[in-house]
Amino acid sequence: MADTARVTNKGARRWAGGHPWIYRSDVTERPGSPAGAVMVEDNRNRKLGWALWSPASEISLRMIERDPEVAIDGAWWRTQIERAAARRSGMHANVNAYRLIHGEGDGCPSLICDRYDRWLVVQMMSAGLEAFRNEIVAALLDVTKAEGILARNDVPLRSKEGLERNTELLHGDVPREIVVEEYGVKFIVAPWSGQKTGAFLDQRENRRRVGELARGRALDCFSYHGSFALHLAAKADEVLAVDSSGQALVRAAENAKLNGFENIRYVEADAFDHLRELERTGERFDTIVLDPPAFAKSKTHLAGALRGYKDVNLLGMKLLARGGRLYTASCSFHLTKPLFLEMLQEAAAESGRTIAFREFLGQPLDHPEILSIPETGYLKGALLEAMD
Ligand code: SAH
Repeated sequence: MADTARVTNKGARRWAGGHPWIYRSDVTERPGSPAGAVMVEDNRNRKLGWALWSPASEISLRMIERDPEVAIDGAWWRTQIERAAARRSGMHANVNAYRLIHGEGDGCPSLICDRYDRWLVVQMMSAGLEAFRNEIVAALLDVTKAEGILARNDVPLRSKEGLERNTELLHGDVPREIVVEEYGVKFIVAPWSGQKTGAFLDQRENRRRVGELARGRALDCFSYHGSFALHLAAKADEVLAVDSSGQALVRAAENAKLNGFENIRYVEADAFDHLRELERTGERFDTIVLDPPAFAKSKTHLAGALRGYKDVNLLGMKLLARGGRLYTASCSFHLTKPLFLEMLQEAAAESGRTIAFREFLGQPLDHPEILSIPETGYLKGALLEAMD
């Protein structure tokens, strides 16, 4: 007999409304079992389905299955992973780095799996999920035939679950560097040490879109490994890549070499300072990319973050040549779409320029954003154009 958790009406309503998280305060009877799958019931003993149970976490339950008759075993995980893989079957043939499992967005709460060519990098971010590590690894191998699986479980979130933080090889071998291809551009992924699982895959389609539109003098600000710069370099005359991390720019230069691009310059500097300097000296750009890190890591930091976003966008707008295009993004979950657009309107109003809103860009299809689970969506992008 599986252990049971009982939840409040509020908790039950959340699941009925399509959100899988049930917080500690909405669990009226806690299962006595260790982390794993538990049956969830409401206060009238009605079965709501199965959840992943995390005894130490504020998110106590993550609902995964409505049908109480189904067993949560290796076959169940395999079905989930097969479905996730099927959703990506239309991925472009020239892309071999993409997200295979986007956690709650693919019905696998707290599980991330990114595919880099023949290798997988996973993140298991809850105790309930961790209990199924062997089943998940077996199912991933079965579905993808990957040569190696690395766990980048070095994320702070694991501490909230009472889990160890480490980077661990789960199967086979995973190289320190993997060369992947993205719409004709090659870049090196560092699965063991790079940010997230080794690269920022969520901007892939936006990099391609901005690359198509690039021309003249281009600026890639917050460049990291130069992934936007590479797409810009194919069409623009010259590209300036700015990042505060010298190490990241060394990698960007290696990536440029790999593609044979010789028109990228690198500047190690604080973006705010450097943009101000460019503005002061009257520089102008035909194509600009602003892809800052998440300034708002939590809701309490939102006000400060908004100032940061507005400042950097204001500078970006001022630096646009006539007819110049700006792709600007935010990956802060707490900066919602409406706030993002409002921030851009305010920056435009202050910039003294006439700025057109051309396209809204967001997450690619391999990062499904579920309407009833706001946390699955975080990336917003806008393509703007200077009309004067
Ligand atoms: N555009 C990249 C991802 C950018 S990640 C891609 O698509 O792959 C954010 C980058 O901003 C990191 O490389 C980090 O080093 C850099 N960064 C953070 N704060 C910065 C600052 N104040 N000035 C310049 N770069 C900064």
